[in-house]
Amino acid sequence: MHARGGHILTVNLTSGRIGREKTPKELKADFLGGEGFAVKLFVDRMDPKLDAFDPRNVLVVAPGLLTGLPVPTAGKTAFVSKSPLTGTIAESITGGGIGAQLKAAGYDALVIEGKSYSPSYLMIDDDKVEIRDASSYWGKFTRDAAEAVRNDIGDFVAATIGPGGESLVRYAGIDCEDRQAGRAGLGAVMGSKNLKAIAARGSGDLMVSNAQKLIFLAVNWQGVMEKSNAFVEDTKYGSGEFLGWVNSERGVFPTRNWKQSVFEERGRIDPYYWAPRYGIKNKACLACTKACGKLFVVSEGPYAGTVLDGIEYETLYSLGGQCGNPDIEALAKANELCDLYGIDTISAGVVIGFVMELVERGILSAEEIGVDCRFDNPDAVPRMKGSCGSRRNWGGGPRTTPCTSREWNRPPTTSAV
Ligand code: SF4
Repeated sequence: MHARGGHILTVNLTSGRIGREKTPKELKADFLGGEGFAVKLFVDRMDPKLDAFDPRNVLVVAPGLLTGLPVPTAGKTAFVSKSPLTGTIAESITGGGIGAQLKAAGYDALVIEGKSYSPSYLMIDDDKVEIRDASSYWGKFTRDAAEAVRNDIGDFVAATIGPGGESLVRYAGIDCEDRQAGRAGLGAVMGSKNLKAIAARGSGDLMVSNAQKLIFLAVNWQGVMEKSNAFVEDTKYGSGEFLGWVNSERGVFPTRNWKQSVFEERGRIDPYYWAPRYGIKNKACLACTKACGKLFVVSEGPYAGTVLDGIEYETLYSLGGQCGNPDIEALAKANELCDLYGIDTISAGVVIGFVMELVERGILSAEEIGVDCRFDNPDAVPRMKGSCGSRRNWGGGPRTTPCTSREWNRPPTTSAV
């Protein structure tokens, strides 16, 4: 199999140096692609003693071995860096199309070093690679930034950060076509580099040494998937289809900051309830036939206008059971806000549930927070997320103006709520 871009692209945002090297044979043989490439390149180039927000921290983006080919469930792209949340190496994966474009542009991996002096984005258009001014995108929501990039330079796939990453929220994520590399704060690493977006477009064909065999294996894999009971359920109800089993049969559903492990009110956050009512159509990661995502739309009530790709199992527990929130519309709104601000839904919900317990124990008060942040108050969940991801916007409610912070060496923000 030689489904490769052929080169490693290195961009130093401080010096502006752009380098290409052939993908070493040993790397291909030993690490295949995707996460393997990204981890190896990161470990080779990063001094582990450096802080995650040190400009010398390295961020690697690498499409999987089969990304860009017609193989279901194999279209992912890995982001690897030092996490500002855990202080160690971390990976986060998106099912958006950035990796396929990188490969078609000729790259098996993109290594980003240094820090831009002002808000920037990376434009990769086959051999043409430029660090460009992103001042007009800074402060925009993830989706809006991607759209603005496309409006300005054409039909590129963009991975963007939102105000959360810009504000160095330690669990800020990266969005690509509504599929998030959400975990471990790698969006904050981009923010610390003043890097708002990576936009890629490739015109090359991926060469496969035995295309017939690849198709045979892909069709075979499709058959294996379809035989699994989970295939139909996942396609209909998404990754939360087993929520009822986790909650009621196993009794291990995170509930009210893990004070309980069975959420009695889970009925309305169960996809068997909401998927037929709010799921307009299925959504998939790149090249996936399973399509476990749902285009979720709220068309009336206080959260009318909420539109998102979801809702994943992990988000159902974090912004649902963990907060004692049985209102799927409030949950969807909080999920949408997380996606727009570029914040990981899992960490966000876990923090909100933790704050709710602090309030319950009298350690924090609603006045201090500015939101009536109690368990079983669904409205509190989206209100707690309606911030820019910094303490400046603690008060809740969706922002109507973009964040404008562009400080060069601003101190790390440790809270997203
Ligand atoms: S659509 Fe679902 S099943 Fe398919 S790759 Fe994405 S997460 Fe996996």
